[in-house]
Amino acid sequence: MKIFTQPQELQAFALAARRAGKRIALVPTMGFLHDGHASLIDIARRRGDEVIVSIFVNPTQFGPTEDLDQYPRDFEHDCALCEAHGATVIFAPQPESMYASDRSVWVDESALSKVLCGQSRPIHFRGVLTVVAKLFNLAQPDVAVFGRKDAQQAILIRRMVRDLNFPVEIVLGELIRDRDGVALSSRNRYLSADERTRARAISQAVLKAQRELDGAPLRDVAGVVAEVAERIAAAGGRIDYVEARDAETLEPPSAQTTELLLAVAAFFGATRLIDNCFVKLEK
Ligand code: AMP
Repeated sequence: MKIFTQPQELQAFALAARRAGKRIALVPTMGFLHDGHASLIDIARRRGDEVIVSIFVNPTQFGPTEDLDQYPRDFEHDCALCEAHGATVIFAPQPESMYASDRSVWVDESALSKVLCGQSRPIHFRGVLTVVAKLFNLAQPDVAVFGRKDAQQAILIRRMVRDLNFPVEIVLGELIRDRDGVALSSRNRYLSADERTRARAISQAVLKAQRELDGAPLRDVAGVVAEVAERIAAAGGRIDYVEARDAETLEPPSAQTTELLLAVAAFFGATRLIDNCFVKLEK
């Protein structure tokens, strides 16, 4: 397994691999890897000859009051996990080598990025889309794998690929949960034991809603959404949002909606957690 820290090293490697006829699969991450990330590397392994995992805590997607400085890191553990799951390259750059101090070009999306997480994290998706576009140019992937844990991010990346004609196939991996149902997240590390126990209310409410909404008529959605919010609040969670949206357009669901995204963001203590499910409504 190769480890690159310089963007130009990765790009030279990727261009040579493409010229040699190899398929490249990319898995972008911020490190502190867990089984959710591992499941994406497993998908990439099946799809690419070269499996590039990027590990980069991208400063431009953090707001000024967010957790950039505390974000957990464990590069040795990450390398071991990548190797065990068949990654062939780790790309772990420093922010200074990714961003010129006078950078002035961004990938900004003007519709889907304004709702859900975009409401409370106004610059987040601009940072995400910009760094993913840069990673696509550096890693030259045929396919890139993202998790459904960050559903809005995945939908936005698909939109960027469509609107800017990136020659990259986007594959989505399922949301992977811990044994107690809580969605695996590097940020779970911030939770106290008590918060962690109470945070189970999020996944319990989401999974119950998923069962109730599967094949249900549109008119049932509002009541189920309200119940999810009540259950999380009853466990002491401070709700950022609980919303059902059309899974493709992120508009409020309508008669045209075939697939629904139920998305949640809530704080337990100072930690903001997200969770979601996708459901097909009644035809
Ligand atoms: P992150 O390191 O949190 O930026 O996430 C990197 C990638 O891993 C993103 O595509 C996430 O959606 C994905 N990911 C994170 N947690 C999970 C999870 N529990 N299940 C599936 N994918 C995940």
